[in-house]
Amino acid sequence: MTIKLLDPKVISRIAAGEVVARPASAVKELVENSLDAGSNQISIEIRGGGVSLIRVMDNGVGIPPGEVELAFDRYATSKIGKLDDLESISSFGFRGEALPSIAAVAEVDIVSCAAGESGGTYLGLKDNAIVNRGSQGRSQGTTVAVRGLFRKVPARLKFLKSPATENSHIANVVSQYALAFPEVRFALFIDGRAVLRTPGSGQLIDSVAQVYGLEVARNMLEIGGGDREWESGVATSSLSVTGMVGSPAISRSNRGYLSLFVNRRWISSRLLAWAVEEAYHGLLMQGKHPIAIINISLPPEEVDVNIHPTKTEVKFQNEHIVFGAVQKAVRRALIELAPVPKIEEVATTYGAPSGTRQVLRTSPIGGDSPTTSPAIPQTPAASLPVLRILGQLLSSYIVAEGPDGLYLIDQHAAHERILFEKIEDQRLRQEIEIQGLLEPVTFEVNPKQEEVLKSHSEDLAEFGFSIEPFGDRTYLVRAVPALLYKKDWTGMVRELLDSLSGGDKRDWREEIAISMACHGVVRAGQALTDDEMRELIRQLERTVLPHTCPHGRPTMIRLSSAQLRKEFGRS
Ligand code: ADP
Ligand code: MG
Repeated sequence: MTIKLLDPKVISRIAAGEVVARPASAVKELVENSLDAGSNQISIEIRGGGVSLIRVMDNGVGIPPGEVELAFDRYATSKIGKLDDLESISSFGFRGEALPSIAAVAEVDIVSCAAGESGGTYLGLKDNAIVNRGSQGRSQGTTVAVRGLFRKVPARLKFLKSPATENSHIANVVSQYALAFPEVRFALFIDGRAVLRTPGSGQLIDSVAQVYGLEVARNMLEIGGGDREWESGVATSSLSVTGMVGSPAISRSNRGYLSLFVNRRWISSRLLAWAVEEAYHGLLMQGKHPIAIINISLPPEEVDVNIHPTKTEVKFQNEHIVFGAVQKAVRRALIELAPVPKIEEVATTYGAPSGTRQVLRTSPIGGDSPTTSPAIPQTPAASLPVLRILGQLLSSYIVAEGPDGLYLIDQHAAHERILFEKIEDQRLRQEIEIQGLLEPVTFEVNPKQEEVLKSHSEDLAEFGFSIEPFGDRTYLVRAVPALLYKKDWTGMVRELLDSLSGGDKRDWREEIAISMACHGVVRAGQALTDDEMRELIRQLERTVLPHTCPHGRPTMIRLSSAQLRKEFGRS
C-alpha cells in the first residue's frame, strides 16, 4: 500500500478514541471541565447507558460568547498558555482535546453563559462541524449535551458493555468526583432516577454518606493533615495527605473502594494503592480490602500529569516520599482511632442464661477490674478500654465488662497478638531468649524445604533457631527460641518451610514471627484462672495493635449497651 495522509475526519476519530473510550470517559471530561470552571453545582443526566444522552450542567464561569466555537477546535484551551505552564498544571484540562474529541464521535449541543452576559450562546455540532447556532436563555454556567455517542463508530459501540455496566462506570466517575469535591453539589440522574446527590457541604463525611451509605460513614476515620515531622531531611516543601479511611470493621472483598486523588485529580496508582493496603497490614483478614479516600496535595511542579491520554496516571518526582507519607498517614489514623469491632447482629433468640453473674456497673478503677497499665511510653497505642473480667466462656473466650457494654475476647487471638509483638520487639533489640537443647535434635527436610532452609537459615537464627547442616538433607538443631522450647517447634519449622518461598526479607521475618506466636500461644479450649485472664488482658493493653491478631482476625468483639437495650426491647 502506498502511504497516504488520513482524512481529517478519520484522524479526529482516532484521536478521540484516546480520550473518549466509553461513555464514562466523556462524563469524566465534561465534569472536569465544569470543575475547572469553578462550579459548585454540577448536574449530570444520563440516558441509555450514556449512548443516548449525556448532559452535564454547571454553574461555573461559562465561556464568553466569542469563544464558544473556539472551544471545539483541537488544542484550544483557556487553561495553559505557554510551555512552562505544563510544568505546574493546576487544572484538570490543559490539552484542549476533550470537546473536539467528543464532538468527533457524537452530536453535541452546548449552551454557555459567561459572567456578566444576559443570556447563553448556543451551538450545535455534528461530525465536529457546526450545524446550528443561536442564543438561549440560561443563567451563568454551561450545559453540554452529548447524543448518539459512537453511533458513527460502530467498532467502538460494539465494545461497549450493557447499559447497566456503562451506567455503573458513569456512577463511579461521578462518585469519585463527589468524594474529591465535597464542596460541590453533585446530582446524577440515570434514566430519570436520582442515583446520587451530595449536599455540597464541604464535609467529606457527607459525600461518603451519600456515596457509600451511612453505615460506612459511621465507620470512617479521619486522616490527619500535613506530616511535617515525617519529611525531616527530605527536600520536599509541602506534601500533605488527608481524607478518610474505613476502620477494619468495614472492609470489602474487592479493591474498588479505594479512591486516590492527587491535587484533587482522581488517579490510579498501583503503588499508592499498595501503600494504603500496606498500612492495613495485619488489620484486615486475607482477601479483604479497605475503603479509603486519600487526598494527596503537593506543589504541582512535583507531579507530572501529562503522561497519559486520560490523565489518570501521574508521575511523582519523589515517588518513595509520597508512598511513605500515604502509608504513614493511613497507618496512624488506623492505630490511633481504630475502634473495637461491634457485634453487628445478635441472634434474637437467646438460650435462657443460667447462673450468669449479675453485671454491675463499677467505676473504671477498683473492684476486680484490672489496673490500667500505662502503655509503653513510645507507643501511644490504640487504647483498650478498661475491662472488668466476668468469666470465661467455652474455655476459649474471656467475657468482660467495658465502659460501653460487653466484650468477648478470643484468648487465643489475644495471646497471639501479645506474643507476636513481644517476638518482634525482642528480635529488633536482638534479645530473643534462646534455649539450648540438652541433646541436639536431627531434623530431616525434603528438597524443597532444604532450598528454603538454606536461603533463610540466617533469618531463623535471628529468631533463636540454631540449625546447622548435618549431611544428606539432615540438619542438626542445637537451640530454639525459649518460647517454643516445650512446644511443637519441629512442626512449626516444617510448616514455615512449606509455606515460605520467595518474598522479601521483611515478609519472611514477619512470617516467622507470626508462626512463632501462633505456636507459642494458649490454645482455645484451655481453661484459664482469673489471674491468668487478668494478666492476658493486661498484656494485651500494652500491645500496639490490641484489636487484631497478627493474621488480621479480631481479638475481641463488643456488644454495646445500646445493642443490649435494643435486643431486650428496652429502647
Ligand atoms: P481543556 O479542558 O483541556 O482546556 P476542553 O476541550 O475540555 O479542553 O475544553 C476546551 C475549553 O473550553 C476549555 O479550556 C474551557 O475554556 C472551555 N470550557 C469547556 N467546558 C467548559 C465549562 N463547563 N465551563 C467553562 N468553560 C468550559
Ligand atoms: Mg477539558
